[in-house]
Amino acid sequence: MAVALLQAPLLLSVGNVVHGFSTREGGVSVGAYSSLNLGQHVGDQRPAVVENRARLLAGLGCVAQRWVSLSQVHGADVVEVTRNASRSIEADGLWTRDPEVAIAILVADCVPVVMTDAAGSFVAAVHAGWRGTAARIVEAMVRRLEKDGTKADQLRVALGPAIGPCCYKVGADVATALQQAVPTATQVVSTNGAGDTVADLWATNRAILEAVGVPPTQIHAFRLCTSCSTGFFSHRRDKGLTGRQAGVIALAPRRR
Ligand SMILES: [Zn+2]
Repeated sequence: MAVALLQAPLLLSVGNVVHGFSTREGGVSVGAYSSLNLGQHVGDQRPAVVENRARLLAGLGCVAQRWVSLSQVHGADVVEVTRNASRSIEADGLWTRDPEVAIAILVADCVPVVMTDAAGSFVAAVHAGWRGTAARIVEAMVRRLEKDGTKADQLRVALGPAIGPCCYKVGADVATALQQAVPTATQVVSTNGAGDTVADLWATNRAILEAVGVPPTQIHAFRLCTSCSTGFFSHRRDKGLTGRQAGVIALAPRRR
């Protein structure tokens, strides 16, 4: 089966950028990692992950030679990377202007976020679980890009599959942290029919992005729940024994 990708039209229209959010389909891993596991740190066979990453880049038509992902630590640090990046950078956001690099955020319920601008002058990606979301990591990335000359109103942002409010029950501590991150937003936390408190990480990150000047029409969210759809890895559903899907973005031109 071919690699199945989700791609936002908003970013597809930027000519020199390739991006996509992977699903479980199209890889060679087996068992709990079946089949397109992209995480090297979760107990899967290394050669299988290397093959899966190559298949994903090929599926994107991406000619970038170097896959760069992070040791994600649920914080709000963002770093610029190049083809010479270390293999062990602790951060939760990365960006590059280097066309040799495909940057990837690995997730299994957290929100992968990818962004570029209308001209495709850089690519950026962010890991937004509840901690990173509460720490406003998407704002940290926008502010960093602004320092480099980017305008927030030129950004095009896509939020990938993540655990949705249909499944994401949270305690009072998480609910409070998310609400404090965007006090004016209304869809961050709600109560479902069973009386559970549930959080919406897509809505929270969207509200933060809009608050820092990204136009609502330039944000696309794939509101697909990783927990109640079988097409994705889910840390919560699979009780920790699972693989990782990815949000990937690169400046590399498409392979002809
Ligand atoms: Zn769900």
